[in-house]
Amino acid sequence: MDTDPKVFVISGPSGAGKGTLTEILLKRVPSLARSVSATTRKPRPGEVDGVDYYFLTKEEFKKHIEDNDFLEWAVVHDNYYGTLRSMVDKELAVGRDVVMVIDVQGAANVKNKMPDAVTIFVEPPSMEELVKRLKLRNTESEAELARRLKNAEAEMMLAKNYDYVVINDDVDRAAGELVSIVEAEKIKN
Ligand code: 5GP
Repeated sequence: MDTDPKVFVISGPSGAGKGTLTEILLKRVPSLARSVSATTRKPRPGEVDGVDYYFLTKEEFKKHIEDNDFLEWAVVHDNYYGTLRSMVDKELAVGRDVVMVIDVQGAANVKNKMPDAVTIFVEPPSMEELVKRLKLRNTESEAELARRLKNAEAEMMLAKNYDYVVINDDVDRAAGELVSIVEAEKIKN
């Protein structure tokens, strides 16, 4: 039986592994399309414009705000991030489910506008593990790392507002849980 396409929102602190889990989810659930966000953050090595993010200047981003192009936007770690309405609408219009990987403020805004959106919070097994993973990733400066850890503590307090919490203690196990949640929600009306 066909059901309406669904919106899935994934949040979690930087370093919790939501990027890796989402990549696996996208491979295992072919009906899902990832919403590519816009950001004013500088690209990390290997990141591609239009694939990982739309990398915009602050002026370009502000123009999109003025033009009401965003479904939601927020300032995260001192940069602007936003979900383009057109990105989500075009996928839903052709019957594809959409997954967006966005911060806690964005998730709350999407849930307000789209109460049927399914929200999933990805948690690291512990704060110690999060520190270890962020240091291993080695993509942030010391100051940026400290900022992300401080935000992580605040974000973790909001996990209780989500429909589901997935603890990323083991990538395969957590990815399996994420796939099960999405599959189960997709067949609900
Ligand atoms: P990063 O800089 O590590 O790619 O992302 C930093 C944070 O911004 C992450 O929590 C990520 O989920 C969030 N983020 C990415 N895109 C969006 C978006 O479109 N809207 C919001 N609100 N947050 C986003």
